[in-house]
Amino acid sequence: MIIARTAAELRAAVSGPCSFVPTMGALHDGHASLIRLAAEHPEPVVVSDFVNPTQFGVGEDFKSYPRDLVGDAALAAAAGAAVLYAPDVDEVYPPGFVTTVDPGPLSRELCGASRPGHFVGVATVVTRLYGLVRPTRVVFGRKDYQQLTLMRRVAKDLALGIDVIGAPTIREADGLAMSSRNRFLSADQRAEAVAIPRLLAAIAEAYASGERNPTALLLPTHALPSTLELEYLELRAADLSPYDPAAPAVALIACRLGATRLIDNLELDPADPTAAGRTLDAKEPV
Ligand code: AMP
Repeated sequence: MIIARTAAELRAAVSGPCSFVPTMGALHDGHASLIRLAAEHPEPVVVSDFVNPTQFGVGEDFKSYPRDLVGDAALAAAAGAAVLYAPDVDEVYPPGFVTTVDPGPLSRELCGASRPGHFVGVATVVTRLYGLVRPTRVVFGRKDYQQLTLMRRVAKDLALGIDVIGAPTIREADGLAMSSRNRFLSADQRAEAVAIPRLLAAIAEAYASGERNPTALLLPTHALPSTLELEYLELRAADLSPYDPAAPAVALIACRLGATRLIDNLELDPADPTAAGRTLDAKEPV
């Protein structure tokens, strides 16, 4: 695997079509499964490793966000990446850079409501990275469901000709979704964090037993520990439009444990109502 620090090094390593996995580094098994999924296709896999300053708000964890290029290179190589592209901020945002990509009103809802500008930052950096990497296919995790939905929108609206793939959420043995931010949790907070997948499991169980009323489905919220500060828990249709009990849906949660913000979600399908619970089982990376 080649580590490219510049676009020129990237171009020298990959000149034709490629698959792309954008990340902010601090790679874990969730990222590895995205890389493995991309590597099932014949084109070489480029993984970007860039902590994007413009998607962090004032007071968020940009400075403390974990960085580990050596560990990332080992994990990406083992998962089948051809290139790890780790550019400097100046290459991604050269002097004079002014263009932004605004993926519309949905970018101001859910996570966007408490993180103003976050999804404009994400859409802008990913679109810029598309320009540098020139992929035909990109893999995003379903864990960041709103991000995946918005990046599908961007690819469609801008006719980018990039196939956007959503990869399943990889979980720890107790069900907690893997996240680069989990390492910030104290032992007590880590123990409390399991309340998130447990809440989703309770929703999955109610859904499997035929419950479709949104208020009833979201009732288990009351079981959350008081140290877990709920930012939102919402039921939406699968495309994040308003919930329709007869259509595929998703329950989305964001909460804080101390300074650490965690998100998760559960996809619900009326055609296969027991499937949701199975997605919460710990999964080995693909
Ligand atoms: P990040 O580095 O956290 O910005 O994430 C980079 C990509 O990895 C995004 O597409 C995320 O959705 C995806 N990802 C992060 N955690 C997981 C996980 N536990 N399972 C699957 N994909 C994940």
